[in-house]
Amino acid sequence: MSNTAHAPTDTLPNSEMIAVENPATGEIIGHIPDLTPEQVADLARRARAAQPGWEALGYHGRARVLRRMQRWLMDNADRVITTISAETGKAYEDAQMAELAYGAQAFGFWAENAPKYLADEKIRSSSLFVKGKRLTLRYRPIGVVGVIGPWNYPLVNSFGDCIPALAAGNSVILKPSEYTPMTSLLMADGLAACGLPDDVFLVATGRGATGAAVLDEVDMIMFTGSTATGRKVGIRAAERLIPASLELGGKDPMIVLADADVERAANHAVYYSMFNCGQTCISIERCYVEAPVYDDFVARVTAKTRALRQGVPNGPGSVDVGSMTFPPQVEIVERHVEDARQRGARVLVGGHRGRADGHWFEPTILVDVDHDMACMREETFGPTLPIMRITDADEAIRLANDSEYGLCASVFTRDAARGEAIARQIKAGSVTVNDALVNYTALELPMGGGKPGSGVGYRHGVGGIRKYCRQQSLLISRIHGHRDVHMHPYNATRTGLFTRVLALLNRGLPARSRRAD
Ligand code: NAD
Repeated sequence: MSNTAHAPTDTLPNSEMIAVENPATGEIIGHIPDLTPEQVADLARRARAAQPGWEALGYHGRARVLRRMQRWLMDNADRVITTISAETGKAYEDAQMAELAYGAQAFGFWAENAPKYLADEKIRSSSLFVKGKRLTLRYRPIGVVGVIGPWNYPLVNSFGDCIPALAAGNSVILKPSEYTPMTSLLMADGLAACGLPDDVFLVATGRGATGAAVLDEVDMIMFTGSTATGRKVGIRAAERLIPASLELGGKDPMIVLADADVERAANHAVYYSMFNCGQTCISIERCYVEAPVYDDFVARVTAKTRALRQGVPNGPGSVDVGSMTFPPQVEIVERHVEDARQRGARVLVGGHRGRADGHWFEPTILVDVDHDMACMREETFGPTLPIMRITDADEAIRLANDSEYGLCASVFTRDAARGEAIARQIKAGSVTVNDALVNYTALELPMGGGKPGSGVGYRHGVGGIRKYCRQQSLLISRIHGHRDVHMHPYNATRTGLFTRVLALLNRGLPARSRRAD
């Protein structure tokens, strides 16, 4: 695979190159330049010069490009899926369902909704000073948006956040993970083929230092990644006084109550803990099951996990679970499993790295876990599911909330009203009842951290595009005299009148004027 089409090596040919690996096989599939701060500054100059022309196209002009890109994604579906799968090691269906489908939907969604979400708002005011004047709240693009993304979903979580930023009329510089940059470069190819003007979307490939350089150039930063890096990004954004939206880590709990549909709960537990090899910020990472259904639930989950086919993805239906993507993550998963084992947990399925080629960890089920174990407290971000027996819903809520994270959570019960009552007590950005993760596909619904450890800000919904804008308040006086009544020179009669009006408006009582002189 070649990536030279968008790598700006022509501007500074001596960039250090980074090898990109297929983590399922260890094969090198491409090289990308590790951009220096000077190269990033050059990209920012180009993006800034291109932005006014893109903004001037208006919503409908921009929507035409976005809709063409929606069709382009479908026309090039196999190429997109293969590229994602090759650089992440994920199963064909994980790339198709979660990434391709999201991208295509998002292009259509933002093309349609940007004009609605960013339409001028007519504002009514109770202020006496503005009676008869026209007040408007307007959203204007912020300028050049920087998007920095992780390796687990190169289309959804790196490129996906660029779509509303572009729809709002911004230029975008995307810094994808150095482990999975190929999808972003392919998206740049697609956008160019769909008529996006030059330099409106630029990909800054490189490591963390390149991300830091992007942060130093842009007018707003949208970051998705670990809590530790998110904190650094937030600090730098605060120093520069630019807005930052931070989508960070998670440790999502699943609660299974005694009256749950145990088969549905077990299917959800296995699918949404092993989907994408467990490398989803909103994966089910820990499970609390009420004692009466615990044994049944564990038996079903164990059988379903044993049946999963893990291997090198090779087209549709070839495997259920692929490899891991990020080599150091395998060590974290192994450490969590070992820590649990040493503290008395039992491994019912998996528990090892598995294949020697590439980067792998087996789908793993842990029981007899407690809340001091790393697997229940830290983000594992791998194909593991620790299951804990609990006595009642109150204990489940307490344990679910006993975390620095609060991204998503799920509750399983046949009593939907009780499920909702429990959901409302969980401190997470999103909570589902008898479901998991699919809330992410509802682009109308905000998605973000419900606690600082999981981030600040939201994607999706009306706020998911307004964050890429500055608000501008407009006040237009069409009918007016030479001088307004409150202006100099002050006189006691008018002040007395104003005193009574003020009292009337704020106390609802007639007031006596007091002479000022
Ligand atoms: P990471 O924080 O290591 O890296 C994310 C990005 O930041 C990469 O592109 C990296 O090169 C860049 N970066 C590193 N140092 C930087 C710096 N000082 N300044 C600017 N950029 C810098 O995260 P990761 O390992 O790539 O991703 C996994 C994490 O992402 C997990 O914690 C996961 O939960 C989280 N995640 C969150 C969401 C969400 O929506 N909340 C979605 C996906 C992933």
